[in-house]
Amino acid sequence: MKLGIYPGSFDPLTNGHIDIIERSKKFVDNIIIGISDGNNKKILFNLDERINMINKTIQNRKIKNVTVEPFNGLLVNFVKKKETNIIIRGLRAVSDFEYEFQMTGMNFKLNSDIETIFLMASDKNQLISSNLVKEVSRLNGNVSKFVPPEVEIELKKKFK
Ligand code: ADP
Repeated sequence: MKLGIYPGSFDPLTNGHIDIIERSKKFVDNIIIGISDGNNKKILFNLDERINMINKTIQNRKIKNVTVEPFNGLLVNFVKKKETNIIIRGLRAVSDFEYEFQMTGMNFKLNSDIETIFLMASDKNQLISSNLVKEVSRLNGNVSKFVPPEVEIELKKKFK
């Protein structure tokens, strides 16, 4: 059974993230969504809120073999602790490349057993980012095309 770790801030979960999770099932049997504390990013939802939104979405959509776990510290340590060597990441156009290139290179130097697999964002999700979703929502825009309903409700609560 192959296990993949899909790490990120997920602040909040978007349809882009869900697409990567669904497509990853073509090459891993189980996925752990590893939620980091945000790595200095400005976070809107605390860890529990982010985990709850993901769990609700997984349950409502009956997405199988996917669990959520928070982690802190080095990603490579979390991956080893879970006894796997596969990291899954999504890649949008050019904007993500530089950062992902550096991260993957560093993780490989820290542990060369671990491989990072990248999935290109689907056409329809190229422009979706958690940051833009938060910004649009803060300005009272409609984000229903970009996030699952479980997340939309929580965004509305935050910005009401
Ligand atoms: P991080 O803080 O680690 O960048 P994110 O939650 O922003 O966390 O993203 C987690 C992963 O999901 C990253 O690999 C990111 O590139 C990917 N991702 C984010 N949005 C999309 C999207 N719309 N389509 C595909 N992948 C995405």
